[in-house]
Order: sequence, then structure tokens, then C-alpha cells
Amino acid sequence: MTLETRTPRILDGTATAKAIRREVAEGCVELLRERGVTPGLTVVLIGDDPASAIYVGGKEKAATAAGIASKVVRLPGDAGEARVLETVAALNADPAVHGVLVQLPLPGDVDAHRVIEAIDPRKDVDGFHPVNAGRLATGLPGGFVPCTPAGIVELLRRHDIPLAGRHAVVLGRSNIVGKPMALLLLAENCTVTVCHSRTADLPRVAAGADLLVAAVGRRAMVTAEFVKPGAVVVDVGIHRVEDEVTCRDLYGDDPKRLAALRNRGATLVGDVHPLQVRERASWITPVPGGVGPLTIAMLLANTLTAARRAAGVG
Ligand code: NDP
Repeated sequence: MTLETRTPRILDGTATAKAIRREVAEGCVELLRERGVTPGLTVVLIGDDPASAIYVGGKEKAATAAGIASKVVRLPGDAGEARVLETVAALNADPAVHGVLVQLPLPGDVDAHRVIEAIDPRKDVDGFHPVNAGRLATGLPGGFVPCTPAGIVELLRRHDIPLAGRHAVVLGRSNIVGKPMALLLLAENCTVTVCHSRTADLPRVAAGADLLVAAVGRRAMVTAEFVKPGAVVVDVGIHRVEDEVTCRDLYGDDPKRLAALRNRGATLVGDVHPLQVRERASWITPVPGGVGPLTIAMLLANTLTAARRAAGVG
């Protein structure tokens, strides 16, 4: 497939997430009016990891703004697996709670797989339970899809990016991003290649992509040689940049980035090298303002879906 090279257009995650959040808010009003049900989301936060606390705070605020009854159950870092499982069991049994999410990562003595398997799949709004992963893998409807890849498909759809027949290369094979991303793109009739840390000649494989999704967790690893001219590039990574030399390498003399560094002590970058890839991509997600805002928006959408299903709607 031949695609034109030009200055890339922006896949605007902030605007798309705002639209999804507005739709969720409307859905919540309708569910309350028709069935007297307010969707409920409870996040279980274990320990005091500062990044997790920030993510959970963001989820709580966004859920409340959309009209979802949001709660955070905080457990100490040494609560132990049995107490986490008891907490999950109580939430599974609570009819006012439609979505249950256990914030990852968990302290070392708590097995994430056992905790995720303990969540009622009908309340698993993160889409990590094996039942939901299995539904996605086998193409069965009615499951929940992990929020980040689901948000990326929504972003591509709402920007009218054609997917059928295109070669998609997904960099990363985690259960949270890479694998479900590959399955969703397959369901959209892309031809999908999944890459990982043992992939041979990664830049050459990536450069075969019409659509390149970077979810490797390596700062600016995706350089020009990874990108076919005209490719659509989705950048899932989030990394802080705190020094000016790196900032200039990634963003040139961009005054906004340099100002962020001066005023806030940091700017952000993804898994994609922005300056190099800008030269080649046809569409690109910015960091911040690309994939990030969609993850929370899709969590809210999944919670509304869980509540609607529990109420027998749709
Ligand atoms: P993981 O660390 O779980 O997975 C990373 C994947 O990348 C693995 O499959 C790994 O391969 C692969 N990988 C690592 N290094 C290389 C390399 N040098 N070459 C090729 N492949 C490599 O990360 P996640 O999937 O959870 O997240 C990926 C990134 O996305 C992170 O930066 C994370 O912060 C970000 N993220 C952002 C979200 C958002 O809302 N914007 C949400 C979730 C994640 P292998 O399997 O062989 O080890």
C-alpha cells in the first residue's frame, strides 16, 4: 500500500476522550432516568506507590464528573493477598458496584493473576480477567476489552483511519496493551505482526507497517528507521524528560517543551522519537494528549456498559 509522506496529522486523544466522556455522562443520565441505576466503580488501591495514587485520583475524578458513583478502597501495602481477595469478594457481592478494578502493580507478596481471577468477569472493567481475555481472543461479544487498546481503536475509528487490509505492527506483547491490541486490530481485519524483545531486526519489521503501535516502555526507541513513510504511528509510552540536552534531541527548539522543562522540571515523551518520526508519519499521537486520556475514558465507558448489563439494558 502506498501512502504519502507529509507533516503528520495529529490523532487527538484529548478531544476524542472528551467526546467519549460526554457520551458516558449522557448514558449515565439515561440509565438513572430509565432504571433508577447509577453506575458504580470501585478501585482497590494497595500500598502507597505515588504513581498509582495519581492514576487512581484521575480515575476517581473522571468517574465522578461523568455521573458514576466512584469509590476507592485503600489497603495498606502489607495487607496481604487474603485481605485483598476478601475485599474483591465483598465488591463482587455488592449490587451497587458494577465495576471493580485493582490498581496494578501490586506489592510483591500479592499474586496479580490470582487477584484478577477473583474479580467477577461481569465487573472486570479493566478487561484483564481470563474470561474477558478469552472472549476477545475467540471473538465472542459481551466481554470487556482492556481500556488502552480499546481506546486506540476508538481513536483510529473516530479519525476515519482505514484499518481493513492494512499491515499493523504492534511493538510489545503485554497482556494489558500489546496482546489485546493485536487481537483488536485482527478483528478490524488488519494483517497483524506482534514484536517483542526477542524479535530479530526490529526496525525492518516495524518499517513494514502501515499502522505502527509502539508499546515497549522504552523512551523514544522508535526512530525514523522504524517507520515507513506515510505510516500511522500510535505511541503508547509515557516517560519523563528532565534534562535539556535530551529535550532538545527529542523536540529540537520547541519552545513549549523547553518552557515545560523550565517551569515544571519535566516534559513527557513516549516510545516514539517525536522529531525523527514526524518527518515520516502521516498521522501520529502526541505525548501527552494522545493515548493517555483514552485509557480513563474507556474505563468509564466499560463501567457504564457493566451497569447497563446488570440492569438488563442492551
Ligand atoms: P510491559 O513492560 O508490560 O511490556 C513491554 C513490552 O515491550 C514487552 O512485550 C517487551 O517484550 C517489549 N519490549 C521491551 N523492550 C523491547 C525492545 N527493546 N525491543 C522490542 N520489544 C521490547 O509494558 P506495557 O505493555 O504495560 O506498557 C508499555 C508502555 O506503555 C509503557 O511505557 C507504559 O508506561 C505505557 N502505558 C501507557 C498507558 C497509557 O494510558 N498511555 C497505559 C498502559 C501502558 P518481552 O515480552 O519480550 O519482554
